[in-house]
Amino acid sequence: MLRLKLYYHVKPFLPWSLRMAVRRYFARRKRQLHQDIWPIDPSASEAPSNWTGWPDDKDFAFILSHDVETQVGYDKVEQLVELEERLGFRSVINFIPEGQYRVSKERIQNLKSRDFEVGVHGLHHDGKLYNRRSTFEKRAERINHYLKQWDSNGFRSPLMHHKLDWLHSLDITYDASTFDTDPFEPQPDGLGTIFPKWIPKPEGRGQRTEDSPQPIRNPQSAIRNSTYPDESGYVELPYTLPQDSTLFLLLREKTNEIWIQKTAWIAKHGGMAFINVHPDYIDFDGNGNSSQYPASHYADFLKHVKESYADQYWHATPNEVAERFVRSQRTEVGERKSEA
Ligand SMILES: [Zn+2]
Repeated sequence: MLRLKLYYHVKPFLPWSLRMAVRRYFARRKRQLHQDIWPIDPSASEAPSNWTGWPDDKDFAFILSHDVETQVGYDKVEQLVELEERLGFRSVINFIPEGQYRVSKERIQNLKSRDFEVGVHGLHHDGKLYNRRSTFEKRAERINHYLKQWDSNGFRSPLMHHKLDWLHSLDITYDASTFDTDPFEPQPDGLGTIFPKWIPKPEGRGQRTEDSPQPIRNPQSAIRNSTYPDESGYVELPYTLPQDSTLFLLLREKTNEIWIQKTAWIAKHGGMAFINVHPDYIDFDGNGNSSQYPASHYADFLKHVKESYADQYWHATPNEVAERFVRSQRTEVGERKSEA
């Protein structure tokens, strides 16, 4: 414990390579310690009690997301988007609104015109978003401003920090700051599921359960329909495939085998294969930089899914998954007979 404290004290003065060496040492121990729940936690496979399945009877959902951390990553967004387009995929690109790079209006419009989604990734990426409630609420106003400006419905916290109850202050349809299992994250408590989960707003009249969601973008329908209390909430979408940074930089995996294996397990159990890949760490040009990994790890994984699971997965952006989930749950609870 003391060693860890000392490490955080001197951390800002250490070079990247030494910091990474220390993180890798702890990561190896964690991997050993948590091998029964990572990369697969068997208990996360259970579908929610009122689960209605994926559209068109698909076996599982396949969802791609990207957090853009630095200017280096911002400059590689186009290459990443082109790679996905070539293979027939779409994703959400999560930008930091007030970080070290500027997000241009043209970039947002361009992504949307290509049917990609844009999400908000914290406000500053300084790890302090949840330090104090008052600070959070102030930042939430700014975050809501960017959600509106970018016409975004989704949020992801920097460093996967999460206080799900606080996120009701954001104008979101979904949040994606959690995971089914990830002992390598600083806040390692996972959501424990590979399915979407409704997060009801705790205050207000009437008791809600996670089994009776309503769309937060349409409060009028909730008031009209007496089945639902007029409260709101949002959908939590845990990422379920290990992050690229964890696999290739921290654990120094040489292949994408863990993605492939876990996707097979998720497909078998009918959940969401939801990945988070950072353009910052992708080596598109074969530079062999030790803080990056070859683009082929990601491209080959996409090809693998496309070829091995043709017609078996529903490919959608996170917001499409969240909206579909809310709709299907409402139908399940309130209008079962009319469900198509
Ligand atoms: Zn981040």
